[in-house]
Amino acid sequence: MRLPARAAQSNSENAPFFEGATAGRLVLPQCSVCDFVIWFPREICPECGSQEVGWFEASGRGTVYSCTVTRRIPGSWGKVTPFVLAYVELEEGPRVMTNIVECDPESVSIGDSVEAVFEEALNRDGEPGPPLLRFRPTQG
Ligand SMILES: [Zn+2]
Repeated sequence: MRLPARAAQSNSENAPFFEGATAGRLVLPQCSVCDFVIWFPREICPECGSQEVGWFEASGRGTVYSCTVTRRIPGSWGKVTPFVLAYVELEEGPRVMTNIVECDPESVSIGDSVEAVFEEALNRDGEPGPPLLRFRPTQG
């Protein structure tokens, strides 16, 4: 069952990320001064403060850095338990808080290889918004 998270709000500062997501591609900002790969997407480097930020297509590959299975939770998320909340460390460096999907939640472990998937999400008005970044166990 699809997780009930709302779609994110795209703005001028993170538009390349969401344009990529809509096309099923993971596009990340990278500092042009110190090469730091920035998460969450924004046009200022948290490492050196530079606003010279470029965008590149990331591999979409990562590993599970930390994870937990939620089995009971109030509200709309209660209908989709159990689900996996995780930090995924991307091949390019950033650690992303996300969900691991398309798997048996009890089977996910730290160190597992995962790959990015983009899931449809609705905005506050119930209209389709930018898709959300999730991860699934690497196929094959
Ligand atoms: Zn920098």
